[in-house]
Amino acid sequence: MISEEEARTQILKKVTPLPERTVRLASAPDCFSARDLVARLPLPAFDNSAMDGYAVVASSCRKGARLRVIGEQPAGPDRGLRVGCGETVRIFTGAPLPQAADAIVMQEDVMREGTEISLNADVEPGDFIRRRGCDLAEGQKILKKGERFHPATIALLASQGFAEVGVGGQATAGVISTGDELVEPGAKIGPGQIYDSNSALLNALLKRCGVSAKSVKHSRDDRESLHQAIKGGIKNDVLIISGGVSVGEHDLVKETLRELGAEIEIWRVAIKPGKPFLFGTIEQCLIFGLPGNPVSAFVTFLQFVRPAILKMMGAANLNLPQMPAKLTVDLTNDGDRVHHVRGKLEHGHFTAVGRQESHALYGLSQSNALLRIAVGESLKAGEIVDVQIWD
Ligand code: AMP
Ligand code: MG
Repeated sequence: MISEEEARTQILKKVTPLPERTVRLASAPDCFSARDLVARLPLPAFDNSAMDGYAVVASSCRKGARLRVIGEQPAGPDRGLRVGCGETVRIFTGAPLPQAADAIVMQEDVMREGTEISLNADVEPGDFIRRRGCDLAEGQKILKKGERFHPATIALLASQGFAEVGVGGQATAGVISTGDELVEPGAKIGPGQIYDSNSALLNALLKRCGVSAKSVKHSRDDRESLHQAIKGGIKNDVLIISGGVSVGEHDLVKETLRELGAEIEIWRVAIKPGKPFLFGTIEQCLIFGLPGNPVSAFVTFLQFVRPAILKMMGAANLNLPQMPAKLTVDLTNDGDRVHHVRGKLEHGHFTAVGRQESHALYGLSQSNALLRIAVGESLKAGEIVDVQIWD
């Protein structure tokens, strides 16, 4: 049995990032940038008004002053107007600043009488002007290679005129749920049977990694059925098999993989839940055998499958987001495997939730974070710990 860290290192060594692609900006959300991206334009690109109001020369304005309106500048093409002392230009939010103007008076601070205004407030140079480049300078870094495109970065790139961007490759994945006891949700269930929940779980987890499962298949616990399912599944970059990797007579995944020529790199990891975890390869396909118990499948997906997929797709950071949290109760790991405790991170406090057993799906559904407790580690209530969050 190898440690969690060794398993992760060994898996990541086997992962080669997929070839980069160019996609329309609209398709980039949740992809990872294939290169450093820098600003092509300053932001704002020109001095402009932050308000609907009047553009003025501040030094010629005091409260009570009267100014002549010599023109109008809406948002849009620059009309090339120039403001002199005693003059003003009617202006609107986002409109380019007329020449010589150095302040905007909001329309709420003005009395308009025909072609004149009188000022109800004092004016300082720079009032309500958004200066060229004050938000972002030309050449400034927007996104680093391997960082994710978030909605706001997509918007920023659009504001810079980017129509396409280079992103990491798109991984394909197949899922196989094994077990004679499994029935598809929606079908009638008989005594001793259970609904297959891992297919739904893995599909949802894959989606969070930016991958939609290409094929989701069920296999019975027999060699022939497994053979067929695996042969179909290895056309993907990643094949995830749930169940059948443990030590029972009906756990046939490892043997069947061997028969199909797989290199089994890892079987059994010192992680709780998830000990029977398996990792191997057939040609280019990475194969992850996750224990059938839903919580084990969940934890091993997050710790081993997720980082592999993210690396494939060009991500720089393969870790789940971490946050400090105050423990609400004492927690000790006196077992021989690192323990991922499921819990709830709320208002900076972490509380273990539900039964900490690998079949206990309800508790998992109520949690939003994992706390990793090393072998022999004893944590006290009130201590600040780092927890991994997935929600
Ligand atoms: P296994 O890893 O195949 O020995 O299965 C361990 C436990 O997980 C058993 O109680 C199985 O019934 C359960 N299990 C296996 N596959 C699934 C699945 N797809 N959905 C829900 N439970 C499962
Ligand atoms: Mg089974």
